[in-house]
Amino acid sequence: MFAERIDFSHEAGLTIDELVKRVEVMIPDTDLGILRKCYEFAEKMHLPHKRSSGEPYIIHPLNVAATLVKLKMDLDSIMAGLLHDTVEDCDVSPEEIAKLFGQNVAQIVVGCTKISKIKFKTKEESQAENFRKMVVAMAQDLRVIIVKLSDRMHNMRTLQYMTKEKQMAKAQETLDIYVPLASRLGINSVKADLEDLCLRYLHPDIYYRLAEKIAMKKREREAYIEETLNHVQEKMLEYSVTGEVTGRPKHFFSIYKKMQQRGVDFEQIQDLLAFRILVNNITECYKCLGIIHSAFTPVPGRFKDYIAIPKVNNYQSLHTTVIGPKAERIEIQIRTFEMHEVAERGVAAHWKYKERNKADGTGKLAWVEELMEFNQNVSSSSEFMDVVKNDLDVGGVFIFTPTGDVKELRYGATPLDFAYAVHTEVGNKTVGAKVNGKMVPLKYRLKSGDTVEILTSKTQTPSKDWLKICKTSRAITKIKQYLMKIERDEHRDKGEAALEKALKKFETSIKALEKKNDFRPLLEKNHYKTLEEVFVNIGSGTLHIKDVLIDLPSVNFSEADVLDFKEEEKDTDSYYKKVQRTAKKTSGNDNAVIVDGLDDIQVKMGRCCNPIPGDPITGLITRGRGITVHTIGCQRIAEIEKNRQIFVEWNKYYSFSHPVNIKVTTHDKPGILSKISKSINTAGINIRSAIARSMPDQKGSFIFEIEVKDYSELLKTISLIEQMEEVISVNRA
Ligand code: MN
Repeated sequence: MFAERIDFSHEAGLTIDELVKRVEVMIPDTDLGILRKCYEFAEKMHLPHKRSSGEPYIIHPLNVAATLVKLKMDLDSIMAGLLHDTVEDCDVSPEEIAKLFGQNVAQIVVGCTKISKIKFKTKEESQAENFRKMVVAMAQDLRVIIVKLSDRMHNMRTLQYMTKEKQMAKAQETLDIYVPLASRLGINSVKADLEDLCLRYLHPDIYYRLAEKIAMKKREREAYIEETLNHVQEKMLEYSVTGEVTGRPKHFFSIYKKMQQRGVDFEQIQDLLAFRILVNNITECYKCLGIIHSAFTPVPGRFKDYIAIPKVNNYQSLHTTVIGPKAERIEIQIRTFEMHEVAERGVAAHWKYKERNKADGTGKLAWVEELMEFNQNVSSSSEFMDVVKNDLDVGGVFIFTPTGDVKELRYGATPLDFAYAVHTEVGNKTVGAKVNGKMVPLKYRLKSGDTVEILTSKTQTPSKDWLKICKTSRAITKIKQYLMKIERDEHRDKGEAALEKALKKFETSIKALEKKNDFRPLLEKNHYKTLEEVFVNIGSGTLHIKDVLIDLPSVNFSEADVLDFKEEEKDTDSYYKKVQRTAKKTSGNDNAVIVDGLDDIQVKMGRCCNPIPGDPITGLITRGRGITVHTIGCQRIAEIEKNRQIFVEWNKYYSFSHPVNIKVTTHDKPGILSKISKSINTAGINIRSAIARSMPDQKGSFIFEIEVKDYSELLKTISLIEQMEEVISVNRA
């Protein structure tokens, strides 16, 4: 049946005859001799190899090819599926494949080989690099990634023959890399299957508990599904709409995700069942929606119209949740047969043969190209990774402009993201936002359907803090660009002024030297294109004024002058020396920290490291703000010159509560937050604030800001929390 889910199970008895038969149905009137030839070649090459299951190796490429048929991919892709491991495992050359089966097939196989050589490491940085390579491979020919997904699908299906360690690693990699890709490409059938397989290997306890619980009430559920189906079909007939209705329990992974998001147990999840109605056209979709909403009571706020506003991966459907028979909540999706095809197969569904000749015949997607463009603009790999992860995140919110236009933003986006989505200039000048007519903070999380009005001011400029508020790559890129330009301008002005001042000593000026073309040797030597670059580099400290002076032909610069410049540099240090001297004269018992036995100087705790009594500390002289106390190991200390540090020690006669952050990682269990809070409170420790976060791997993460008298009290608190069985780790944050 059309609406049935695509079955990607491992087919142990699959033969080339069967494969050819299936391809004939899909592409009739084609000579498939080349497909058989392809199979014979692959079989011969893989003859010495065996799968971990003990089966002949060829069963793997054969299943991969079958998956590609199920996704309705073209003949080149199917052949590439048969050959995908030959270059890597059998030393076949790409040239040979090109000669025998064509350039296209060879290219896809080479792309797959490249990806399989990527070693995925746990370190974020290297993983990002790999992801970057993957996007590059994808940009060359999208079919590479679909063949690779089919390869991964079969490997995940036959993972039981691997060691436990390999199972975990493969499943994690699949969840991190392949699932988001399948999702972004809209191949939901593959995505949902991979997710369930990942859950099975990464969290077998949860997976089998879900499987058991769903199986337990199986008969009851089947009866319920049938009753509901009949009811819906009757209603549809009443209004003469024909279509197909199916119902089934949701995917395990989607149930698991709901449990995590809401922090609830399986029993508390209400809507386990999903129904799907497939009809012939869009009018019938909305007609069906009307029928459903009049037959059952809709749950408010759960209706989503992805037909009017498709998801970024082209997914279209109507979603609604209603109170079904026996007051059970059920989710219903309504879409056309065509939309369903796209929902299951994503980009693969668009792989019509006629489209293949378009330009380069590789069917690049716009977003892949955008990603490639962005790739060239970001410096670090982890930054790139963040952006890719953001862009792969399909869940979006739809926001209205005051004039009724719609913008789609990623989930979690703020009014500031929206402002940048409207226009960079609007973003840069944002001072406030109104959502549905009410003022909101800039970090407000937008919800679908919100109408957002941005308030701007001519004098506003972006600040560094905005980077923390924004969630979309567009806004973040634009803010960074602005900040970089501002910094450059500042450096330029500072550098220009410094040079002008130095030249005064030689009774000349920048303008005068420019006229004489005096800067040319300097520019050439340093490969600078403009004088402005010289200023920027002086201002940022990468170019020393004396190195500039030496290279100016009409400036007579001598060693004696170098001494002069050093004198001047010393001047700026004198302030700190003065503070050091006064600090030694004052200080007493009214401070938490004693500065060289004296008082009367303003002492503050560094917010970066938050020292508490007992920590080894040092003082830092800050211009105009007295002394800031940091721990010896603090990052800030490493960045600052030694002569700005001053000896300080804890005052043992002074007692007050110090705020300190601790980070607690736990197994994600309901009620864990209140359990930890209670145990901290009973120890007499005050909690100032707590932040909780659910992490994707079934863990919970909490940041507590607590108040302690000293280091030993902190240690006591930490060990108290550590003793709880749900707790994985406790750290000072
Ligand atoms: Mn393979």
